Amino acid sequence: MPDGNDQALDQLSLDERLARVRAGITDAASVAGRAASEITTIVVTKFHPADLVRELYALGVRDFGENRHQEAAAKAADLSDLRDATWHFVGQLQSKKARQVAGYASVVHSIDRAALVTALAVPREVPLDCFVQINLTDDPGRGGVAPDGLDELVERVLATTPLNLLGVMAVAPLGEEPRRAFARLRALSDRVVALAPEANRISAGMSHDYREAIAEGATHLRIGTAITGNRPLPG
Ligand SMILES: *Cc1c(COP(=O)(O)O)cnc(C)c1O
Repeated sequence: MPDGNDQALDQLSLDERLARVRAGITDAASVAGRAASEITTIVVTKFHPADLVRELYALGVRDFGENRHQEAAAKAADLSDLRDATWHFVGQLQSKKARQVAGYASVVHSIDRAALVTALAVPREVPLDCFVQINLTDDPGRGGVAPDGLDELVERVLATTPLNLLGVMAVAPLGEEPRRAFARLRALSDRVVALAPEANRISAGMSHDYREAIAEGATHLRIGTAITGNRPLPG
């Protein structure tokens, strides 16, 4: 079932949209024979004001995703009173920003090259959880490491002390059936698990394809619009 057109989405309240997505996740998990409790839902709040994060927090959300460093840093500072909120950095990350991102983010979903691993190798009190992002398209300009560079990048992350590899992350390519793309991701995840048995998590699934991602084993969903409503224009 699609999430409806954009207008319909904005006619629902935040808690209605959240409830609808939570029900969708429970349903998709049950279809896949999985427990919804093993799935973490990250609400991607990019372009939305800090107030929206507070409203989501009041509704029980604890995992928030952002994709631009400046905006994420400002929001994390603004919301530092929400002590048990977890910030996930899900966007492409410049090496020169990496150290700062590691200052507020608990999880980085977008490790896609060796230089970024080096940049994130900053001593810290608790390990930095991370995902290696894989490019599922043929376009090298897209975020993510190409599948043939995956093993080498994974080895590098594993050898880097402050980093704790959770698993793999990807975005389904436009114009491909998402379930097919996520099946490829699952096979690549199996390859990573052969190198690092603990790194068995899969970050996949957005507003329009989280059901397909759940069917292919996603453990971390990154959902924006279906919960937040349409994004305001980037400021
Ligand atoms: C924006 C974004 C999402 C959420 O997208 P929606 O389609 O709004 O659910 C998920 N992952 C990444 C990497 C994003 O940048």
